[in-house]
Amino acid sequence: MLTSVVGINWGDEGKGRMVDLLSQNYDIVVRYQGGNNAGHTVVNDRGRFILNLLPSGILRDETVNVLGPGMVIDMEHLYNEVQRLRDAGIEITPKHLKISDRASICMPYHKLLDCLEEDRLGDKKFGSTRRGISPAYSDRYMKKALRVGELLHRELLDERVADIVEWKNLLVEKGYGHEAIKTEDMLEWIDKYCMPFKDYICDTTLYLDKAVKEGKNIMFEAQLGALRDIDYGIFPYTSASYTIASYAPIGAGIPEQRLDEIVGIIKAYSSCVGEGPFTCELFGAEGDALREAGGEYGAATGRPRRVGGFDVVASRYGVMVQGCTCLALTKLDVLSYLDEIPVCVAYEVEGKRVDYFPKGIELTEAKPIYEYVPGFKCDISACRKPEDLPTAAMDYIKNIEKAVGCPIKYVSVGPDRDQYIEMF
Ligand code: GDP
Repeated sequence: MLTSVVGINWGDEGKGRMVDLLSQNYDIVVRYQGGNNAGHTVVNDRGRFILNLLPSGILRDETVNVLGPGMVIDMEHLYNEVQRLRDAGIEITPKHLKISDRASICMPYHKLLDCLEEDRLGDKKFGSTRRGISPAYSDRYMKKALRVGELLHRELLDERVADIVEWKNLLVEKGYGHEAIKTEDMLEWIDKYCMPFKDYICDTTLYLDKAVKEGKNIMFEAQLGALRDIDYGIFPYTSASYTIASYAPIGAGIPEQRLDEIVGIIKAYSSCVGEGPFTCELFGAEGDALREAGGEYGAATGRPRRVGGFDVVASRYGVMVQGCTCLALTKLDVLSYLDEIPVCVAYEVEGKRVDYFPKGIELTEAKPIYEYVPGFKCDISACRKPEDLPTAAMDYIKNIEKAVGCPIKYVSVGPDRDQYIEMF
């Protein structure tokens, strides 16, 4: 069984929590894109964990976790993330974690370039997490990236890194006027943060291909949502990677495989980190109350998130491009405080009501059309069966299902592992 778990919207849909729950049925969990530019928060009996790079299956001893070729990996961040988990008693050995030799390394100069460019842009900044993701992917396309597998030949790296640093300084020093980066600093960084992972590096394509043939269950865990996909998202306010499910087998290392199931994670309201069009945004007291109720602050950066009501237009599009076979609706309990729940049912573009998700200037200028539906006004966090839910909550779920055209299989009513309802 090959299953991808993906975000439907702008990210932060609660994927970490759902992957943690669903991963119990899988032998292997694979991250297939992105880097440490987003975070999953997982709460379980072992504690509360923020995972930026490691797949959520790392919290289960028996699950094998893979960082796939589609990723760009900041090894210093990985080193610290692994250390934090070990301090909390989680065992991480080459048996639990395998790093693709094809993945690229996100180097300190990628982070530096990310910051230099955001600063240069000033008011026109993209709202990057400044973690070097775009510069790292750019180097991959320029064929200048260091691949994880190169760490297995440390003796070749002195010259290799010197060549890259010389090229990078054309931009860092001569372009941005920043102090030059030094080869010896980069090599020291590699020795300190990359080399400890030498025994974790392998050809994950061979490993996963064998696992598929042995009938193992594999889950592909996405970071960020459909609207952050480099091609299908709200470009240029997207990530630099492919966040959609179709990319999962490619970014994971088994391009020949097809997915059996695609679980879309969709939040009961909307949130968005950073810049860019966010049509359903709610402002003032209405927005503040929702942000507080949902605890909407970035897991990776602590930034307050922009919030809005459930966005039918963006969600229907997200479900379509992800090709979802079913959905998990998260954070429904957060809406308990509302007398009436705001739902963005359509957009207005150039004075006309539209139901499709626009792009470019049409999207930038789109206005939300809001309707209010009855709230359920009670604590639903203890509900465990569909029949435990109040009628208004059930109506809300059914309306979303109908609006986006995909069945909701799970409803999450709290952050804990058991706080969910299986709808069918
Ligand atoms: P991700 O990147 O998609 O995993 O999203 P986040 O890291 O932002 O996770 C969402 C946050 O909401 C985390 O703090 C979770 O513990 C929490 N969470 C997830 N599902 C639920 C839910 O159903 N109800 C509530 N109240 N919190 C949830």
